[in-house]
Amino acid sequence: MEVILGKRAGFCPGVKNTVIKTEKILEQVKEIYCLGQLVHNKQVTEKLKQKGLKIVDDISVVPNNSYLIIRAHGIPKETYKKIKEKNIKALDLTCPKVLQIHKQVENYAKLGYYIILTGEKEHPEVIGTYSFGVPNISVVENLEDIKLAVECINKKDIRNIAVVSQTTFSMEKFEQYTSNLKKMIKKDSNLEINKTICDATKLRQMETTEIARQVELMVIIGGKNSSNTKKLYEISLRECNNAVLVETIDDLYMNYVKRFKKIGIMAGASTPKYVIDEIVQIIENTKTENYMFGG
Ligand code: SF4
Repeated sequence: MEVILGKRAGFCPGVKNTVIKTEKILEQVKEIYCLGQLVHNKQVTEKLKQKGLKIVDDISVVPNNSYLIIRAHGIPKETYKKIKEKNIKALDLTCPKVLQIHKQVENYAKLGYYIILTGEKEHPEVIGTYSFGVPNISVVENLEDIKLAVECINKKDIRNIAVVSQTTFSMEKFEQYTSNLKKMIKKDSNLEINKTICDATKLRQMETTEIARQVELMVIIGGKNSSNTKKLYEISLRECNNAVLVETIDDLYMNYVKRFKKIGIMAGASTPKYVIDEIVQIIENTKTENYMFGG
């Protein structure tokens, strides 16, 4: 079977750094807390849990004086304060690109701008970034949200508007939303658009589009709760007739895969290399079986 594997499949620099440093610190510290899943991948998280990583949802349950990892997505401003109050020793692994957006948003807020943050409202990175722009900030996840944000801007009579994005947001949606926004705000407004979608995300989405156009089936590997993986799957569904989303080889229905001759593979930013390698190897060693569609 012919396989085209995306060059950009797997860990992005931020996730790679997080996993390596967490593994290292777990060699020295027996128990270390993490707020939320370290990376959106069950297999990676399970391995680290066995080594002493404790995943909790809220800072209130992290004991005073304990150790804590701040994952690549970053945390809200208030959580930094609580970490200090509880004398928690934190290893801040927030991706530098996310930290940069926090600073940008904080500066805009100080200058009196209204901030539009394109992204998913429930995504931890968005929750963190949002906290740096309160009260003049709106998260825009869909077209309806743009209307609500513009209503808010008009009500507050703010003319300086800045747009930033979740680092893993869809490029297409970002372009669409900003162009809609331009048409909806008052003509004398000053609009500053910051394309803060991470290069690793952009390039991976572009490569997925390219590969999906050449193959019969796209296999996207990644956590089912990973937002950047879901986007790769959406792109694949749009550009290719057949696409599947799997976390590991166990999710891949080989009788289905056997129907195709040319298969594209891409993986989300939290997918470890060994999971990708295993799937590539098995597909490459599988023979295509002639199958008459609809026959
Ligand atoms: S996707 Fe980009 S911004 Fe997000 S963690 Fe990875 S490298 Fe950092």
